Amino acid sequence: MEIVVLRLGHRPERDKRITTHVGLVARALGAKGMLLASEDKGVEIRIKEVTKRWDGDFFVQTGVKWREELKKWKQTRGKVCHLTMYGENILDVIDEIREEAKREKARIMVVVGAEKVPYDVFEVADWNIAVTSQPHSEIAALALFLDYLQQGKELKTKFEHAKLEIVPRRRGKEVRIRE
Ligand code: SAM
Repeated sequence: MEIVVLRLGHRPERDKRITTHVGLVARALGAKGMLLASEDKGVEIRIKEVTKRWDGDFFVQTGVKWREELKKWKQTRGKVCHLTMYGENILDVIDEIREEAKREKARIMVVVGAEKVPYDVFEVADWNIAVTSQPHSEIAALALFLDYLQQGKELKTKFEHAKLEIVPRRRGKEVRIRE
């Protein structure tokens, strides 16, 4: 299954940190990349730095035309999951989405907003999914959705070629530096 995150409405002057965390969560929890519907090379560079040290081939593309990306995704049989507090509760739809994810070459685009999300996103999405019907954060919503979708498998993803590797310890910190 290929998962890509589409981040709408990023405002470079105020969303840098949040959008960077959307990308870091996407990368750590099993997504292949993040598309950003606004130009922001800073976010791209920061996440690429993490990927260089901690491994993987996570991609970040900024300045994308989100309507075209959604159209392309659906034309190539991808499914669109829009995370929004206005949607159906995740517990009521996650089984359908997991079924979809089992399909051969399944492709799931997870859409998160920043400011007000245009209504046509709600129309195009295959699912509009609420992680509770309370207003909170795209980071929390994304993390929970990625975990419910992959049922915890993403929590043990191996990053085989990382330059830095954490050795899990009950106490203290241990970091292995790989040449
Ligand atoms: N005010 C904006 C609107 O009404 O579209 C949303 C602001 S919210 C902080 C930013 C993003 O966080 C939303 O677009 C959505 O992707 C995500 N989000 C916030 N609360 C959520 C919830 N309860 N369930 C799913 N996603 C949520």
